[in-house]
Amino acid sequence: MGAAALPAAGIVAAQARPKRIVISSANMNDGGLHCCAKAMEVIAGGGDTLDAVIAGVNIVELDPRDHSVGYGGLPNEDGVVELDASVVHGPSRRMGAVGALQNIKTPSQVAQRVMQDTDHMMLVGAGALKFAKAEGFKEEDIFTDEARAAWLMWKRALRDANGHSNWGPGVDAPPEARKTAVIREVQRRFPQIGEETLAELWDYAIHPPHGTINCIALNEKGEMSAVTTTSGMAWKLAGRLGDSPIVGGGLWLDQDIGGAGSTGRGEENLRVCGAHLIVENMHHGLPPKEAAIEALKRVARNFDNDRKRLEAIDLHFYVLRKDGEYCGASLWDRPSVETRRKAQLAVCTAEGSRHEDAVYLLERS
Ligand code: ASP
Repeated sequence: MGAAALPAAGIVAAQARPKRIVISSANMNDGGLHCCAKAMEVIAGGGDTLDAVIAGVNIVELDPRDHSVGYGGLPNEDGVVELDASVVHGPSRRMGAVGALQNIKTPSQVAQRVMQDTDHMMLVGAGALKFAKAEGFKEEDIFTDEARAAWLMWKRALRDANGHSNWGPGVDAPPEARKTAVIREVQRRFPQIGEETLAELWDYAIHPPHGTINCIALNEKGEMSAVTTTSGMAWKLAGRLGDSPIVGGGLWLDQDIGGAGSTGRGEENLRVCGAHLIVENMHHGLPPKEAAIEALKRVARNFDNDRKRLEAIDLHFYVLRKDGEYCGASLWDRPSVETRRKAQLAVCTAEGSRHEDAVYLLERS
């Protein structure tokens, strides 16, 4: 064995008995806390770590109020919801993924079936849906009224260079503030959606927040698994895949080292292969926090460390090492849109579920 391999051997040799732990992105409506608690319950009952993290993220995939994952996710520019997911099963070192999957609420489960039931690692688009149906998944409409209302608001807010839009009242209509006019029109179409929700959906339409859920688990035998699932970037071009379904980009796990996953702007993560890079950084001896910060520095380097350009980017990593050491790490101290919240992760251990602050590379002024 060469000297270069020694630090990694050091990590594994030095570890204490593995702690049972689950981490995930925080997500809205305490989605991360519920996800981690569920995954922990499955692990505590003797379940497999991949079944555990998938059961956890299923809660968020099936929650219509989380507009960044699964059922209720925001659609692409054509008003079609396309979901992406990837899974890694540590003990068997197997992986699976689906991309641009339509009409199935739980893409994480389909990714697991790709891993278990096919000789492939990734299926996308019509082929992924065909496979899911063959496997017995129910095809259903996953575009909720709230997601459609947000999409219609986005379309109505778009203007050509002369400030004109074909989606909205004609030039003969009385002048009115754009936001008020758009909300009023959409309200006519969806009278069941309350004022407050419509105002929130306007914010979604104009500044789509980043979502996605990544979840990584470790059991007391030292077995690990991980999943990332998302509806991707809101209003994306049809067929766009981000980092979430890319094994090595939005998710990576090496049973001998640990795992990492991401949420945020997938394109920037893919330009550094973030999840794989972080696990490799740990392999070369960096602790989780430093391993993730190093990856974020590479993202910043791709912009020549120009804070102005980087300000438009949100990117978050979640890292769990094989000995139970973990962290969340974000490019910025708080996201660009949800300015009230600090960058956080959800964690569940024997002490229960909680939010913890992530470390970060840059501070917003
Ligand atoms: N990472 C996801 C993607 O790029 C989206 C997100 O987390 O907001 O598709």
